[in-house]
Amino acid sequence: MVKSFIPGTYEEALELLDKNEMILMAGGTDLMVKKRNWAGLSPLFDKDVLFISELRELKYIRKSGGFIHIGAMTTLEDILVHRETPEILRKAVLLMASPGIRHIATLGGNIGNASPAGDSLPVLYILDAKIVIDGKGTERMVPIEEFILGPGKVYLESREMIKEIVINDVRFDMIHYEKIGGRKSDAISKISFAGGISYKKGRIDEFRCAFGAVAPTVVRSRKLEASVNGLGAEEIKKSYAELIRPIDDQRSTAVYRKKVCMNILDEFLDKAGEYK
Ligand SMILES: Cc1cc2nc3c(=O)[nH]c(=O)nc-3n(C[C@H](O)[C@H](O)[C@H](O)COP(=O)(O)OP(=O)(O)OC[C@H]3O[C@@H](n4cnc5c(N)ncnc54)[C@H](O)[C@@H]3O)c2cc1C
Repeated sequence: MVKSFIPGTYEEALELLDKNEMILMAGGTDLMVKKRNWAGLSPLFDKDVLFISELRELKYIRKSGGFIHIGAMTTLEDILVHRETPEILRKAVLLMASPGIRHIATLGGNIGNASPAGDSLPVLYILDAKIVIDGKGTERMVPIEEFILGPGKVYLESREMIKEIVINDVRFDMIHYEKIGGRKSDAISKISFAGGISYKKGRIDEFRCAFGAVAPTVVRSRKLEASVNGLGAEEIKKSYAELIRPIDDQRSTAVYRKKVCMNILDEFLDKAGEYK
């Protein structure tokens, strides 16, 4: 029979995880949907479950030396209201789920779920997020693009967990976040977009943008970003058009997704021109 463990401290959680392979349960807003069973029956857990959402040591947002550190069990609501939260992350979180869900859903869970439609992900990509992974006696930090391997797949050993998310405290001069879903709230994204630009002496100093829900993982090209200064808007759009190759699924068609991505990019580039 499957057992549940509710550790009192983070140290205890790591010890339990070290002894036994377990399913990590944060807010459970993805997990309980994935593991649901027929009405009246227990969820379909095939391993013991470690409840980590109440670990106080993993609930914080701290700024230090040009970086913002967010504990993995920080809820979306806490991120929304915290004064150190970068504005672009706040915009994304505000469009996620509903207030009730945001009070229990965590940032660590959104990353751990590794859904192509995870709305925090494009923002975390453009903020160069690093994921701090911890296990008993081991700690490592990997860039988010190396941590998320594909839908539902992450670079995590069975006895490790996400401890913290570290993001660059970049203050862009102009930001743009867009989420396209079937309705205003509680909608899974058909497309999401995060972009940020900084200028120096009238020229683009930093250009970053990322598309979510249009590929198995977020689409961001550092190579293209580095070359935009020499390119016109049409050339930039053409280059991104080659990168974005969405698929048809139950939420949308590839044709629609591609067209809307290009419209969003157009709007972003227009806004960038006006701002300059
Ligand atoms: C009605 C509804 C609306 C939603 N709307 C949105 C939306 O608009 N946008 C969006 O992006 N998502 C949405 N979601 C999905 C979900 O709420 C988010 O992905 C949320 O951030 C998941 O966090 P959680 O704490 O509930 O994760 P959980 O469900 O507890 O966990 C998710 C996964 O991450 C793993 N995990 C959790 N914590 C850790 C950790 N510390 N280390 C390693 N792995 C870990 C778990 O094992 C599991 O595989 C919605 C869900 C519901 C039910």
